[in-house]
Amino acid sequence: MEPEPPGSPAAHPAPPTGDRRGNGHGPFSGTRRRPAVLALVARGLTRRCPACGHGRLFRRWFTMASVCPRCGRRLEGRAEDAFFLGAFVLNFAVTELALAVFVAVGFALTLPDPPVGWLVVGGVAVTVVVPLVFYPFSKTLWAAIDLFMRPDG
Ligand SMILES: [Zn+2]
Repeated sequence: MEPEPPGSPAAHPAPPTGDRRGNGHGPFSGTRRRPAVLALVARGLTRRCPACGHGRLFRRWFTMASVCPRCGRRLEGRAEDAFFLGAFVLNFAVTELALAVFVAVGFALTLPDPPVGWLVVGGVAVTVVVPLVFYPFSKTLWAAIDLFMRPDG
């Protein structure tokens, strides 16, 4: 019998049979629970493990642990190439979005006479800097998507 936290109200009243857990049907059945989507997104955006929220996955900006040191969740997935491709596509999409926003805002703010040369230079800078900055976030975000698709992976 597990000790109850002192003073906590019974949020889940015990069923009248007295068999409180282990029957495979209630909130305590043994399957691994998937974190809520918002938690997955938040963990991905903050470079945390999608499964447990552990925050020390990166030894360097570009070097992510392949397995979570706390919960053991495999972060790179079974197929390394597929995982790399997923994170890459995510990073590419974010970069293109940032470039589109940059160009649109740049033109909108300078419209009678937009400095096209500077906008091109800025656009090139965006396409170089954004993927480098976003790289670790693309990895953890993809790990979160991977966990969403394969909770038991
Ligand atoms: Zn973890």
